[in-house]
Amino acid sequence: METLLMQGKPVAEKYREAITAKIAQARLQGRTVTLAIVVVGDDPASHVYKNRLMKLITSLGGQAKEVLLPEASSEAEVLETITSLNQDDTITGILPMMPLPAHLDDAKIGAAVLAAKDVDCLNTGNQGAFLAGHNPWAASTPRACMAILEHYGIELTGKRAVVLGRSNVVGKPVALLLLQKNATVTICHSRTKNLAELTKEADIIVAAIGKPAFVTPEMVKEGVVIVDVGINAVDGKLVGDVAPQVVAKASAFTPVPGGVGVVSNMMVMEALTRML
Ligand code: NAP
Repeated sequence: METLLMQGKPVAEKYREAITAKIAQARLQGRTVTLAIVVVGDDPASHVYKNRLMKLITSLGGQAKEVLLPEASSEAEVLETITSLNQDDTITGILPMMPLPAHLDDAKIGAAVLAAKDVDCLNTGNQGAFLAGHNPWAASTPRACMAILEHYGIELTGKRAVVLGRSNVVGKPVALLLLQKNATVTICHSRTKNLAELTKEADIIVAAIGKPAFVTPEMVKEGVVIVDVGINAVDGKLVGDVAPQVVAKASAFTPVPGGVGVVSNMMVMEALTRML
């Protein structure tokens, strides 16, 4: 059986032209598309992600406003920063880097982002509208998973999809998006019993738990489609949630790195242009 390597780059690049055109159009109207990226503290992964987004927005003709706050910032200080960005007419969209330091409540800070500047569906009003099906705007990573499946022609209607992970930013929204595309969806989490029995039935597995090589060949059936969202640092290398040996049984899979992450970054930019 031939295995399809679902690389992210061609998917991301498909969006580049339209995004660049929208940003150029805004510039003609005197507006520089600006993404405010708020980083609280020194988490290396957040700084790497922030730097990638800054490079990407610049390559698309827009700009980033980097807002760095000290690790010990209080909730009130972070909320004040978000409020002032909400009120700043020069800012098109706002992205606070998550996870925030442990003493801060990610959901509360995310909810403070103005709905009209909320590029990653953190505002609870936007989340509710998405849940009810009134608003197609999920967070960027779940949309990236769907863009990859669509680009590579993976049929979803009637298929059994298993999502590993139930976070608000990945697991839950990707499960809803798969449901919207008529898949039959099971969501697994840390309390799921007999998880491998469920994954063995899956036509499509979306792994988003943050545990290296969690999904092993015994847990999947021949021909499964794998979307590996996990990003884990192991011995200085990035690996996904799916063991490399699973590839031999898969009909299609996303690599880590080079899969979901690169598309997810572009989805942030696409969301930004929707704020214009
Ligand atoms: P998270 O908030 O930590 O959620 C992890 C989820 O995995 C939770 O629902 C947890 O279950 C579940 N889980 C943990 N251990 C499990 C186990 N042994 N069996 C079954 N389920 C288990 O993580 P996240 O933010 O969703 O991110 C997940 C992964 O995706 C991470 O590796 C992250 O770095 C990566 N990520 C990648 C991108 C990208 O662009 N590629 C973007 C975002 C995140 P409970 O709810 O029961 O605790």
